[in-house]
Parts: sequence; structure tokens; C-alpha cells
Amino acid sequence: MDRAAFPAQVGIFEVGPRDGLQPEPAFIDTRKKIEYVDMLTGAGCKKIEVSSFVHPKWVPQMADAKEVFAGIKRREGVVYSALVPNLRGLELAAECGLDEVVTIVSTSESHNKKNLNAAPAETLKEIQKINAEARRRGIRVRSYIATVFGCPIEGGQDPAKALDIALALESFGAYEISLGDTTGMANPLSAYSVPKMIKEKLSRANLAVHYHQHFGLEFANNFASLQAGITVFDGAAGGLGGCPYAPGATGNCATEILSEMFRRMGIRTGIDSGKIQEAARYAKTLSSLIHENC
Ligand code: MG
Repeated sequence: MDRAAFPAQVGIFEVGPRDGLQPEPAFIDTRKKIEYVDMLTGAGCKKIEVSSFVHPKWVPQMADAKEVFAGIKRREGVVYSALVPNLRGLELAAECGLDEVVTIVSTSESHNKKNLNAAPAETLKEIQKINAEARRRGIRVRSYIATVFGCPIEGGQDPAKALDIALALESFGAYEISLGDTTGMANPLSAYSVPKMIKEKLSRANLAVHYHQHFGLEFANNFASLQAGITVFDGAAGGLGGCPYAPGATGNCATEILSEMFRRMGIRTGIDSGKIQEAARYAKTLSSLIHENC
């Protein structure tokens, strides 16, 4: 395999503090969340999804978003973002001085209803409003599409659904779209073909991938997407995560292993391997979830 076929550097989007901690059943002390984010900053992560501004009734673990943002040490050049489900969330994010927010919609009608209590078409209308208001405030929007590679409730998903949603998100103004393998159902063939097909149809938005653990396939999936021309990869230090609304959801792809794969290939990520392993070890002390099928 020719090294020259791959980019000199790729981006890793760290989702541990939000996507990783969100499903934890017991509330994690705010100081510990701050410590985790600061360790990730110290490890060289350039983009960190810190928390989410959703109603605490739905996601009690993220009820301290404002306090976490107030407590972290923000480093120049690092982007700290939060998931927002609606305009109220965007407003709270703006109050915390964020310059980037993240939205989410599923290809699967059933998963979207469980996750956001709405049909995907309704969620897209809300995301359109978030984009318009974010643009007015000078805030960038990154968008997840969940269940792209399969849904635990509906099963296989037609990639055309993800494409339609990606084109809509791009038209709303999203600067980056991340294809989510919410419950680890992708394989290296779909992890190559689906991102490649969608990337070719997008004219402006960047495309990223977001794989979840399944017998280690997440690393093969990331590599297949790299071969398809993807240059931004989502990971969670410590492999934390799951999805409270997706039965069987496993942890996110572990950043410390993903970045090590790139390091050994001579592809820069800006992440320090010793320090990210330290952050991963710390992250694991915060987690009570054991993923038996990882
Ligand atoms: Mg995830």
C-alpha cells in the first residue's frame, strides 16, 4: 500500500465528554468532567465536544453544561462545542461563548422518534432554524446523521436516506457532516462505499465519520473511510459511550487507538500518544458501562 495515497494529516473530533459520558446512569461530578476535558486539551485534541444543551429531563448527565464550560481551561486554537437540539439550546451555547454547535438527526424514523421525539423531517426543520440563527450569531454548525449504517430497531438503512439528509444539512449551512454508525453496524465495505458516495455529491460541506465499537471493526471501518478520502474521524478517549435510546449501543471508537493507528502510518493528528492514553485511563474511571460485545 502506497503511503503517498494517504493525507499527511487528518483531524480527530473528540466526542468523549459529551457522546461518551451522556449515557452514564449515575451523575458524574462536574469537576471530573472538567478534568477530562482539560486532559484532552492537554493531549492536543483540537476539537472537543464538551457537553450538550438539552433539557435535563431528557439527558440529566448533561445538566451541568454551563458549569463545565465555565470551568474548563480553553486553549487558543481549540474548538469546544456542544450538542443543541433546538433554538433554546443554541441560545445557551451562545451565552457560554461557543463558536461551534452540533446537531443530530437519524436516517431511521424509529430511532429519531426515540432520540428526539420527532420524525426526521421535523428535526430537519428545527436544524434549519438552528443554522439560520447560528449564522446570524457567527456560530458554526456541525451535523451528525445517526443510524447511517443500520438501525437497531429498523435494521439496514438505505444510503440514499443519508445522502438526502446530508444534502439538506449542507443546504442549511453545516460546515461539516458526520456519518454516525450509532450501534456499530458498519463493516469495511459500507464504511468505504457510503462515505465515498456521499462525499462525491456534497459540494461544500466536509464529511466526517463516527464509528462505534463492534469486535474491533471500528478501526477497520475508519481505515476503509480513510481510503475513501475521509479526513476527519470522531473518537472518544477511553472508548466511552453508547446511546440511551438505542438498545445494544456500544462505546465510541477509542481515540487513543485511532490516533495510534494514524501515528504508525505517519499521518499527523496533533495528538500526543502518551497524554491521550492518560486521558483514556481517566475517562474509564468515570464510566460504569461495560460493553460486552466490543
Ligand atoms: Mg457516538
